[in-house]
Amino acid sequence: MNARRMIDDIAAELALNGLILRGGFAFAAGEPVPDGAAGARAVLLVGHGGPTIWLHFEAWRDARPGDIADPLDTWSRETIGAVAARFGARAVSPSDRPWLPFQQWAMRAEQLKASPLGILMHPEYGLWHAYRGALLFFDEAAAEEIARRGARVHAPLHLCDACDGKPCLNACPVSTHAQGGFAYQACLDHVRAPAGRICHETGCHDRNACPAGAAHRYSRAQQAFHMRAFAGAGS
Ligand code: SF4
Ligand code: SF4
Repeated sequence: MNARRMIDDIAAELALNGLILRGGFAFAAGEPVPDGAAGARAVLLVGHGGPTIWLHFEAWRDARPGDIADPLDTWSRETIGAVAARFGARAVSPSDRPWLPFQQWAMRAEQLKASPLGILMHPEYGLWHAYRGALLFFDEAAAEEIARRGARVHAPLHLCDACDGKPCLNACPVSTHAQGGFAYQACLDHVRAPAGRICHETGCHDRNACPAGAAHRYSRAQQAFHMRAFAGAGS
């Protein structure tokens, strides 16, 4: 395979399902690599900015009547796994246990910083983006090409630094982000209670209060899907 064309070819394959490459990097010689990625020489992160996967995912889901456990994870593993197989890579998922450090990898690959909500702030997509998997490469030619081209370099502007009033900290009815960090249990209790129905209907108020990347906000249906998955997660 021509390593020089590889990154463009992978991006083109991913685009068929609304996915994008989110940057990548090569591990330095001797650098410790997490167990779930042992032996890997380089990483390309895969995800989406805005709601671009949603129609692809829904079409896939509609073609499979009946219950599928963790359908978005299943779709992501299937879709990204097929691309990995074509390009001699191994696909890993943000849901793999033990958890791989996706946000640390993203900060390195895309030069992003965390918002006060914990979600990384993207200069274009704001809080409306996520990682659906990563491609691990084990050969030198791929690692060299990823080292040369992989990293996305944004303007070094972290939108949260310049944000007046930080409305994301004060929109939640149970103030889960008001004290610094995220009061996970308070959020979970609320979204599981009748009073939290509004979070299911309109999405997280704190996340929606952010003015950044508003054009990329997920649809209500997508937000409701993520909220159901979150509310159904173990405590
Ligand atoms: S509201 Fe402001 S501080 Fe909060 S995530 Fe958005 S840009 Fe950052
Ligand atoms: S989902 Fe609802 S309860 Fe949880 S942080 Fe967002 S607004 Fe608060």
